[in-house]
Amino acid sequence: MLDMKQFLLGNDAFRGSYVAEARSYLERLASEKQSPSALYIGCSDSRVIPELLTSSSPGELFVVRNVANIVPAFEHADASVGAALEYAVAVLNVEHIVVCGHSGCGGIKAIVDGHAALRALPNLHQWLDDAAQPLQAELDRDLPGSSLVDRLVERNVLAQLCNLNTYPVVAERLQAGVIQLHGWVYDLPTGRVRVFDVNEDTFVHFDGQST
Ligand SMILES: [Zn+2]
Repeated sequence: MLDMKQFLLGNDAFRGSYVAEARSYLERLASEKQSPSALYIGCSDSRVIPELLTSSSPGELFVVRNVANIVPAFEHADASVGAALEYAVAVLNVEHIVVCGHSGCGGIKAIVDGHAALRALPNLHQWLDDAAQPLQAELDRDLPGSSLVDRLVERNVLAQLCNLNTYPVVAERLQAGVIQLHGWVYDLPTGRVRVFDVNEDTFVHFDGQST
């Protein structure tokens, strides 16, 4: 098992490699107001690292992560998610919001398996209870083929894109055409992202063209 020493040695290694090379870039970032172009909303899962999977540098992504990449609707807003969302959109003026789900999401699996077993963890239970509501129709469908968890991971991303629309700061900017919403699903074993295509009404592999 790794202990904290391992992580602190990792910070030494980080400073000796990345920081040594990017020193002037990091100093400039520190001297200016942050100006990320995208708000990334993803799962807390330790295997899905937003900056790693997008090859992003410090300063490029404003990140919110929670269990199962949830954005509670405005009328049921979670203060932490709502605060970060409003700050990113109204103060930092991000041009894009990405909601990124991922294969094998433990939060979604718990919803499928019946999260009643999590009653002893009241916050997690309530969080998944709320998250499960927009997924109920999909849960009730008995479709052959693709796994229920995979379908729910996708449905869950789309539900959060709908919920983003309930925030006045987002709705106003969508109306004005100054912000875009994106739904992604990250595949754990391959590291590849699929993107929701509105025209195709499905998640597709990025072809190097679409945004
Ligand atoms: Zn997850």
